[in-house]
Amino acid sequence: MTVVTRFAPSPTWYVHIWSLRTVLYNYLFAKKNNGKFLVRIEDTDRTRLVEGSVENMLEVLASVWLIPDEWPNNPWDRWPYYQSERLDIYKKYIQELIDKDKAYYCFCSPERLTKLREEQQSLWLPTKYDKKCRYLSKEEIQKKLDAWEPHTVRLKVPDNTIIEFNDLVKGKIKVPSKDIDEQVLLKTDWFPTYHLANVVDDHLMWVTHVIRWDEWTPSTPKHVIMYDAFWWEKPVFAHIPLLLWTDKKKLSKRTWDVAVEKYLEHWYLTESLINYIALLGWNPKTTEEFFSMNELIERFDLRQVHKAWAVFDVERLKFFNSHYLKTLDLNYLYNKLKTYLSKYDKDFFDKINTFWDDYNKKILNEIRTKIKKFDEFKENTYYLYNEPKIPNKELLINEKMKIKDIDTVKKALEISIYITKNNNDFNSIDEVKNIFIEKIKEAEMKNWQVLWPTRVALSWEQFSIWALELIYILWNKKSTEILTKVLKTL
Ligand code: GLU
Repeated sequence: MTVVTRFAPSPTWYVHIWSLRTVLYNYLFAKKNNGKFLVRIEDTDRTRLVEGSVENMLEVLASVWLIPDEWPNNPWDRWPYYQSERLDIYKKYIQELIDKDKAYYCFCSPERLTKLREEQQSLWLPTKYDKKCRYLSKEEIQKKLDAWEPHTVRLKVPDNTIIEFNDLVKGKIKVPSKDIDEQVLLKTDWFPTYHLANVVDDHLMWVTHVIRWDEWTPSTPKHVIMYDAFWWEKPVFAHIPLLLWTDKKKLSKRTWDVAVEKYLEHWYLTESLINYIALLGWNPKTTEEFFSMNELIERFDLRQVHKAWAVFDVERLKFFNSHYLKTLDLNYLYNKLKTYLSKYDKDFFDKINTFWDDYNKKILNEIRTKIKKFDEFKENTYYLYNEPKIPNKELLINEKMKIKDIDTVKKALEISIYITKNNNDFNSIDEVKNIFIEKIKEAEMKNWQVLWPTRVALSWEQFSIWALELIYILWNKKSTEILTKVLKTL
């Protein structure tokens, strides 16, 4: 039997961080078992539709490499993956439930239902349908149908029994049938509710594992009743616990900062998003914490997903991001940087394109160990992309580093100029370092006495990349030019 998992979003605008985790777990589980992962759009609640959200969602999934095997609008796929295009199917199955006496027509008006709910609420009772229409006679039902009375169809919950199912994450779940609401399955407009469409589609699409977040656990007993009513085999259920912010608030209580898109816009790498999100509530049973997608697929086990909620901590995400910035292949990272820039900072993208790739890459190679996200690149490198200014003298003099007067600064700059003028471009920072150490020693100065003014002169800043790295990046001609210019002003 092929393992089939699915992501079944309702088309509201964003893919949220908690949905990303659900999608990821579905994806990892399917891939681990050589199975299939599909996306199905649950758009039967017409009031919640947001135009463009499906395209947006597929785009976001693609940017985090979660490409489904079957998805909406893919011409090669067998089913329509929009539930709104499958209405006839649900009608057929609702009829089957009615014929089997597992579902019934309900003619109660919205006003009656609202009143009923309010009464129950005022008595602190759980709000449930009171089953009034369940006991209508065949004749009464026919009369109402013939008179075109508006109606819904409700699930008939078996009396006096326990509904139970095994959840891969939460263990055995048992619910007395008296606590289960007789859910509407087909609405007055003949659209199915989530419950009917979801169960029918999971069955027809051969879904073997329903992995979804915990909020759906209370619905599952209703689904189990439906599977039994149809005599269908049930999928394996796994309900993934909630995600909380570090302040212990539910993630779903916020809006914009839970959208995956925002994290991409804020220049997080897919590698770190995927790695970090996978570890939220899943324990790979090792002290290692950095995993590529393939390693995650290899190791993923639903049984190691925690029962308790997990905390989403942006600082941890940054930590993963800085790890990947430091360790990923430089050329790959450079291309990524350019993609991000072209998308999110076109001006700066155009600017760096006027420089040699080699120059940009050298800069990235230095900067990547110092930043946590790509969007810190620009602010940390502008002195390498703009014409240098003349630094102010107070910055060049530094008592702590024994640079007490302008004469020492001058001497330092002369040494640096001598080196940059009389050498070919350096092939590595080590080469720059060796020659500087030698010359500084000869001049009987301390390293800092030379390197501090050199660095300030080249970057015109209090903080920047170190002097030797700057010389390596700028190359000797440019370094000589800048240093000479500063020296002349002293
Ligand atoms: N349409 C539901 C949602 O948006 C799907 C829940 C499920 O996976 O069964 O969450």
